[in-house]
Amino acid sequence: MPPRPGAEVSEVLPSVQQQIASLCALPEIRSAFTWLRAREPQLAQWQLELARIAAPPFGESARGAWLAEKFKELGLEQVHTDEVGNVFGTHSGQRHGYVTLSAHLDTVFPAGTPLNVRQQGSRLYGPGVSDNGAGVTAILAIAAVLQAVGLRHALPLLFIGNVGEEGEGDLRGMRHIFSAPRWKDSIHYSLVLDGAGSDTIVAEALGSRRFEVIVRGPGGHSWSDFGAPNPIVVLARAIQSFAQTPVPAVPKTTFNVGVIRGGASVNSIPESASMRVDIRSTSMAEMERLERALRYALDQAVEEESQATEARAPSHRWPFGLSFELVAIGNRPAGELHPQAHIMQVIRAVDAQLGNAAQVQRASTDANIPLSLGLEAIAIGGGGTGGGAHTLQEWFDCSGRELGLKRILLALLGLAGKAL
Ligand SMILES: [Zn+2]
Repeated sequence: MPPRPGAEVSEVLPSVQQQIASLCALPEIRSAFTWLRAREPQLAQWQLELARIAAPPFGESARGAWLAEKFKELGLEQVHTDEVGNVFGTHSGQRHGYVTLSAHLDTVFPAGTPLNVRQQGSRLYGPGVSDNGAGVTAILAIAAVLQAVGLRHALPLLFIGNVGEEGEGDLRGMRHIFSAPRWKDSIHYSLVLDGAGSDTIVAEALGSRRFEVIVRGPGGHSWSDFGAPNPIVVLARAIQSFAQTPVPAVPKTTFNVGVIRGGASVNSIPESASMRVDIRSTSMAEMERLERALRYALDQAVEEESQATEARAPSHRWPFGLSFELVAIGNRPAGELHPQAHIMQVIRAVDAQLGNAAQVQRASTDANIPLSLGLEAIAIGGGGTGGGAHTLQEWFDCSGRELGLKRILLALLGLAGKAL
């Protein structure tokens, strides 16, 4: 839809509101709502099942195979897995182009993490049960309800379980999909499901840059080579100084030193040490400024430790000195939705129809990729409530999941348009 001059961001066009209201009045939609309420036990079962299949970063294939089987059982067509592990299934429509409904399959938990997935009343517990157990379950619920009530629509729906959203995955699943002209040129709208909840609309893509910093030195024996430059000390000095970099509250900008490694034994001067740094901002310029601050802190730290080496062992010559390397391990583009984007009109009309209050947010999700390409995309929750994301205490409460699923179904069909 072309932007209307003068239309306020806060206004939903009456035509869009009307379209959602008439969608809601269809008997198939009423049956779909009843189905979603009645099948909650089945949905919780799927969620527990998938959370029990480990999906560490770069190790999503078992969960992907499980999802592909479910897609087939639920009657999706052209079910297949691409070369990076993204799983696809389609629900055909009458026109060309796609509306995607996607959820990431991966978790932040490394291989071997004890999964202890369990249910207590309406609550499910276990690592990844909400992020993104809630999103993947919602995709299955929508595929299942479409099959159950025989809903038809104009644009085909493309269901995707994608790899590589979390951490070092660096959105590789979505990046791969949108680098293929076959998909990039045919996907009109992307609806991304990430985590629990019904009260948010992520329409702005939070950018991030992540680095592995490796400091190297000659190493040596702690007693006989005393004085040799120490990479761990360089890291400590660099962290101390980088951590004092001021950051603005607006645009919100953050940094974190998340992992530190190095050394071989207590009586060895280490040959290398490394750390992982995460920089995030709503502004590209702030991310660049922090990257420069990090490089400066490292330059200074190397300089100081080299001088300290001179002072400790003035006559000693080492085979080589200190060096550091900054390796980019993550780079998520920032971007935002056009204020009059149709996808925003549709989700806000759906929320008005359902009496649901939702806030527009900026976050880093799979939607970063289409948003950074100027395409229409939002990320929303899979319903219910959740907490403890990225911890072993993660939980998901199924109560109220129905609202989230109704919201997803209406948004998806609103975007796909009416079948003739
Ligand atoms: Zn997630």
